Amino acid sequence: MALAAHPNAATIAIEPAAGLYLAVLAQGAAARFANLFRQAWRRIPRADRQAMLRHWRALSHGVAGLPMIQYAERWRDHEYGEIANTSLDGRLLRFKSTAVDALPDSAACDLIAHELAHVFLIATRNTPPPSRGKQLRHTPAEMRADGLARSWGFEPDSLAIWDAVVYSALHQRS
Ligand SMILES: [Zn+2]
Repeated sequence: MALAAHPNAATIAIEPAAGLYLAVLAQGAAARFANLFRQAWRRIPRADRQAMLRHWRALSHGVAGLPMIQYAERWRDHEYGEIANTSLDGRLLRFKSTAVDALPDSAACDLIAHELAHVFLIATRNTPPPSRGKQLRHTPAEMRADGLARSWGFEPDSLAIWDAVVYSALHQRS
């Protein structure tokens, strides 16, 4: 595991050239997740990655530090059953550690692509803000994100198959 040259020791480099780092806020397979994030990122067409990078740079006013990508057990406004969340402005992506650890590599990449699709759609002003919560999977914003992830070659529908796996992992922990 390569630690980033970053003041926060609990940070793993994902793609330093693009300013992507993983903030490790929970125990678990964070290095594996950072690797999968890098793989998913690199599978996205370059022009779409660049649109996201421009969006993050504009939001950060040229100061490094965006996006914030977190591997966390929970977060302040975490909703029950939520396994990932992208903030309304696309600057903060959070992934539930126990949930992503329970996913096979391919499904974890599909989840990462879905969240990055929200960022792209926000960056290009093509979407209503991402909706929240597991029950809201079929809102227009979610379906748009899944459609984009599919066009990138991912299979976001696969995530439904893994719900049971993720939920049993979550319940073993609590
Ligand atoms: Zn979503």
